[in-house]
Amino acid sequence: MLKTHNCGELRSSHSGQSVTLAGWVHRRRDHGGLIFIDLRDRDGLTQVVFNPEVSGGAHAVATGLRSEFVIQIIGRVEKRPSGTENSKLPTGEIEVLADEIKIYNASKTPPFYINEEVDVDESLLLRYRYLQLRRATLRDNMLLRHKVIKFMRDFLDGRGFVEIETPIMIKSTPEGARDYLVPSRVHPGKFYALPQSPQQLKQLLMVAGFEKYYQVARCFRDEDLRADRQPEFTQLDLEMSFVDEEDILVLLEELFTSLIETVTPAIRLIKPFARMAYAEVMDRFGTDKPDIRFGLEIKDISAILADSEFVVFKSALQNNGTVRGICLPGCAGYSHKQVEDLTGIARNCGAKGLISIAWTAGDGRQDVNSLQMEKIKSVVAKHIKAEDMKQVLEVFKASPGDLLLIAAGDRGLVNRVLDELRREMAKRLDLCDPDLMSFVFITDFPLFDWSEERKAWDSTHHPFTAPFESDIPLLEADPGKVRARHYDIVCNGYELSSGSIRIHNRALQEKVFNILGYGKQEVEDKFGSFLEALEYGAPPHGGIAPGIDRLLMLLTNSKTIRDVIAFPKNQAAADVMTDAPSAISDQQLAELHLRITGD
Ligand code: ASP
Repeated sequence: MLKTHNCGELRSSHSGQSVTLAGWVHRRRDHGGLIFIDLRDRDGLTQVVFNPEVSGGAHAVATGLRSEFVIQIIGRVEKRPSGTENSKLPTGEIEVLADEIKIYNASKTPPFYINEEVDVDESLLLRYRYLQLRRATLRDNMLLRHKVIKFMRDFLDGRGFVEIETPIMIKSTPEGARDYLVPSRVHPGKFYALPQSPQQLKQLLMVAGFEKYYQVARCFRDEDLRADRQPEFTQLDLEMSFVDEEDILVLLEELFTSLIETVTPAIRLIKPFARMAYAEVMDRFGTDKPDIRFGLEIKDISAILADSEFVVFKSALQNNGTVRGICLPGCAGYSHKQVEDLTGIARNCGAKGLISIAWTAGDGRQDVNSLQMEKIKSVVAKHIKAEDMKQVLEVFKASPGDLLLIAAGDRGLVNRVLDELRREMAKRLDLCDPDLMSFVFITDFPLFDWSEERKAWDSTHHPFTAPFESDIPLLEADPGKVRARHYDIVCNGYELSSGSIRIHNRALQEKVFNILGYGKQEVEDKFGSFLEALEYGAPPHGGIAPGIDRLLMLLTNSKTIRDVIAFPKNQAAADVMTDAPSAISDQQLAELHLRITGD
């Protein structure tokens, strides 16, 4: 190699050795006679000193060095003079006195600092992603990503899993998003789809008898992007035969626990992982992606207010809705403006308004039993009897000084509002411990969701998910009541993975397609060969696919998924570095039998 050591490697025990280092000029300081360079490679930084009395030639070359020049130096390791050590740097005890230098390549002045992570417009960072990847944060994220994936591979290998690649150009497999399509040149008018996930293929590998499969699988979904979504992303896709839910959940708990304890030991975990049924999480948190690192749980006060004459409550309850809220500790003193701001959040979720009930603090000895109604500040205070108000405060386990936020109306809307407020207030009150990962397994999902838009049933997970055996008789009679053998893993408010025990019987799979509104011909066209495979001894099987990018986002406490992917797309699904997507030539269009209509 063109170097004998890495830049993070040298210690005082190397003193006196002659070494060759190669890397980039991270920082250059000219102290009159002496020139100091922090030389950087992937491994770290080493201080290099150019002294005209040691080597006039090397010193002369060093005067021309600028940030990001790529160089090689040969020199001797010396202990730094006492008092000049840098305890923040692993190599801070030593420096290398340069005898020789070679410049491999100069560098233009980078468009942003590499040695300081000053915020600049993200489009500039993405345009020069290879330079941003030189910065410590992204470099460390990529190195961690490597370790995480290696750990996963080793862990699964140790448990008898086989890594098998599946094709990228396939027939569409539904996961609820739009497909990315690839036009075929040799089959005019026909298209491949990029996999939204290798779902059917991994099930076919179970039919093929592999029993335990995994793959670090790239998935493609054309959907609206958010901070935690990319058009292409990576899942640890796995599938097992002869298992039930428990086998998969235990495997995943062991994988995540040992991974985090080994690779990111500074992160704390709550063990064992929490488990909740879908109905319970919706009730307590208003979402199936709850962040359970903090409380602020939702409470239902509909029953207490059943006879209320207050029009907002009354109309909600008469229309089959609900009255629910959260309790913000110590927030009773919020100003009108602060409460209005929270009401604005509720309105953005579609609510007409929000009702606040402040229990203003008294002499510190108040409890619910000695409640004085004049301590309650709320537009609804005069509409709620003192007895009912006491019950409301009791349900929330409120204390003097707390603020209740109450939403009334349709259950879905109330949940959306309170989930949003709960997350927002956790941020504002600083309730989320960034070093804690709090996993929840969610089970007992409904098999179908009713889509108001399509006026039809959708799969909550995907169409291959098996119903509870005991609910099969309900499939035709009352699809909305059928529970699914589906489980999710959620961590700190993010859905990390979905999985399920699958249908392995043709007739049942056809019945589910039928309930989802697929016609006979459509089923044959889309899933004919898959259904046929189920007739050749398909074993019982199930699986899951944890999102690797989202996991890394949590492990690194990154704000966006882009920070853990080497070359991500921007929010508009574009790669601004290589300029993709881009137009193609008329000849390519003709070969692909395509015409751009410009609509
Ligand atoms: N294919 C599913 C998904 O991408 C995961 C699974 O069911 O294994 O969510």
